[in-house]
Amino acid sequence: MPRRCTVCDHPDRNGIDEALVGGVPYRSIAKRSGLSESAVYRHKTEHLPTHLLKAKEAEVVAQADDLLNQVRNLQAHALDILERAEKAGDLRTALAAISQARGNLELLGKLAGELDERPVTNVLISPQWLELRTVIVGALEPHPGAREAVLRALEGGG
Ligand SMILES: [Zn+2]
Repeated sequence: MPRRCTVCDHPDRNGIDEALVGGVPYRSIAKRSGLSESAVYRHKTEHLPTHLLKAKEAEVVAQADDLLNQVRNLQAHALDILERAEKAGDLRTALAAISQARGNLELLGKLAGELDERPVTNVLISPQWLELRTVIVGALEPHPGAREAVLRALEGGG
């Protein structure tokens, strides 16, 4: 059974995490919260990065879900307009609504795909990857042909 972390169990864990992120020395946090310095230090190095990552991921997912909802809303409107335009025999408006609905479907498909590929997407936006990518692309600067091929391969997403 893993040892419990007194900071993770602390009622003011969020406050402690915020203080750590804000650069407050772990010694003063320990004193203030009645925790041992070693516990705060261990929490900072072992647990805080995971907490932050999870919070960030939750935020990204929430944003994507929100976007998805908005596109679904747009699609409902487009289909509504299409139905009314067809009933009114307004073919020009019906055609515009169809075109709009098709665009929404493409967007929905793309969003759904991105949501499914979330772990892959996360790897591709990790700072380490971006740094490596910059190094690769920079190293290929004198070889425009190779550089372009690599960029195409990278952006193609495999
Ligand atoms: Zn902890």
